[in-house]
Amino acid sequence: MLTSVLSFTPEMAEKVTEYCTKSSTDVSGQMNELWDWTVGEFEDADKMSSPLQGSTMKFLAGLLKPKRILEIGCFTGYSALAWYESTKHVNAEIITLELDPKMIAASRRTFEKYGLNDRVKMIEGDALQSLKKLTGTFDLIFVDANKDGYEAYVKSILDQKLLSPTGLIMADNIFARGMTISTDSNPLLPEKTRAYWTANGKALRDFNAFCKHDGRIDTVLLPVYDGLTLIKWKTE
Ligand code: SAM
Repeated sequence: MLTSVLSFTPEMAEKVTEYCTKSSTDVSGQMNELWDWTVGEFEDADKMSSPLQGSTMKFLAGLLKPKRILEIGCFTGYSALAWYESTKHVNAEIITLELDPKMIAASRRTFEKYGLNDRVKMIEGDALQSLKKLTGTFDLIFVDANKDGYEAYVKSILDQKLLSPTGLIMADNIFARGMTISTDSNPLLPEKTRAYWTANGKALRDFNAFCKHDGRIDTVLLPVYDGLTLIKWKTE
């Protein structure tokens, strides 16, 4: 049977990612610079989006022309920079939520260094509390923080009607390195992170069930990167 994903060995997955990145529109010099800086500074730099994801974000934002973007989880500001660069023509307002003081400092450095402060605003603190302070609607919402918060975040976004009528929610890392599918689906996951991703996988299974059964929305889980869920208001 032809499935939706090719079966890759880790070596093949790396080659395919490299090939896709090379075959996609390049991200900017400043995005590359920030990516290199983050890899050099942070042991957990794998939390940052990849250059291929950066290209995808810029492509989508260029197409959708969002006037307001909400991001949950900033890290060092790589995705915020992608949103900023790709929405110059529509002058979008970008609101990003971050909890960790170290990452708040790193992101503020990014905003300063690349001149993003005119359109990027960070709300410091726990994302669920920050969400409650928001008003108006957002055309693009990127959910990319703690995985055990996804269900509460999306529920809050829907309950508060923060998503514009034609808006799109993108939620990243839905596979939790494979642990969402099954706890034996990734024998190569390092032992030191296995418990963390196993717990995330459990939370994301609940999130997926929530998305599937909430009558207000349409959803699709794409087998790209570490699993990407798209959500929009239901259209009959
Ligand atoms: N969006 C970034 C990018 O594309 O490079 C990566 C974000 S990283 C995967 C997740 C971020 O969410 C981390 O910086 C973490 O500190 C933050 N985070 C975790 N729990 C949070 C919470 N409860 N509220 C706000 N931010 C949180």
